[in-house]
Amino acid sequence: MNRRSFLQWANLAGLATGLPARAFAITPREAEANQGADASAAKKTASPETLLLKDYRPKSIYKIPVTEIAKAKFPVIDMHSHPYAKTAAEIDDWVRNMDEVGIEKTMILTMSTGAAFDEIQRKYAKYPERFEMWCGFDFTGYDKPGFGTGAVKELERCKQAGARGVGEIHDKGQGLRSGKLKAPGMHPDDPRMDAVWDKCGELGMPISLHVADPIWMYQKMDRYNDGLMNAYEWRLDNQPGIVGLSGMVDILERTTARHRNTTFIACHLANLDYDLARLGEVLERNPNLYADISARYAETAPIPRFAAAFYEKHADRLVYGTDMGTDKPMYRVTFRILESLDEHFYEIDQFSYHWSLNGFGLSDGILKQVYHDNAAKLLAARA
Ligand SMILES: [Zn+2]
Repeated sequence: MNRRSFLQWANLAGLATGLPARAFAITPREAEANQGADASAAKKTASPETLLLKDYRPKSIYKIPVTEIAKAKFPVIDMHSHPYAKTAAEIDDWVRNMDEVGIEKTMILTMSTGAAFDEIQRKYAKYPERFEMWCGFDFTGYDKPGFGTGAVKELERCKQAGARGVGEIHDKGQGLRSGKLKAPGMHPDDPRMDAVWDKCGELGMPISLHVADPIWMYQKMDRYNDGLMNAYEWRLDNQPGIVGLSGMVDILERTTARHRNTTFIACHLANLDYDLARLGEVLERNPNLYADISARYAETAPIPRFAAAFYEKHADRLVYGTDMGTDKPMYRVTFRILESLDEHFYEIDQFSYHWSLNGFGLSDGILKQVYHDNAAKLLAARA
């Protein structure tokens, strides 16, 4: 399953992904019809007058090195995944894929509490060394006086049931969300959340926190939008009254500053993939904050030199993640971007962005930190 079909599947399954849910769901029949349209578009003679951006599939013509990386150079801990595998056989398959590509352990961000969490925990219990289950928050009664006690109680119960962390908790500007449970208008820095964040610290449970979404989704949908191909599909520019990207990063910082004994992992480079310098400053000011690099490969691979310099400077605070399903090709693309110095390659079907990508060529030392050591340290600190 490539990223595009994975995203369609995820939306059909009602799963939250690194990107916001589509404004409308695509039915399998529509998806098939789209594929038919793709094929007929490919057959037509292309003219700049008739070729649509969505059909554009350039292929690199350069005779330059192409690096095939079947397995990551060092053992990997994946800090951002979800319970994609539903059956025992699918879970076995996933473990085989992980073995082949070099993923030692995967954090399953279940976003669930109660019986739903317990069920996922049971399903994955066969592989305690390979998967960790992270739970969600119970936001029931968030708008009633006394919120906090119940959420803390359920957190403690989930911990007892096997949860080792919390995530993925979202706030794309409307308020907090944990799976289907929403708390509109309550952002992470809301005093109502104080007891909950503090309890996470006390229990040694790090939180995988997703704030905002990529910058292109907030910008005008016109011919100047650099990420139009994905931006339009997941647009936020048409949602008045939400907290914007910058405001959400401020909220993230206020939250981490107020809860220094709690460890936060900002998902997807805190959506500052377009402004890594700012992310660097945020990381420097907040020692209890990490950033996962999941689902932001295509967004950083167009700027390989700047991105590599950022990795070098903040190598101790970045952790590997995927958030893109369980397929071997998916893992391998991430390794190619991190490890190789390949230039100008396309992965449109994996990421939907139509930009050409470039490898960062990270050094062994940095790869070891990002793939494994930072996560291992963060996880070991919980005991
Ligand atoms: Zn995710």
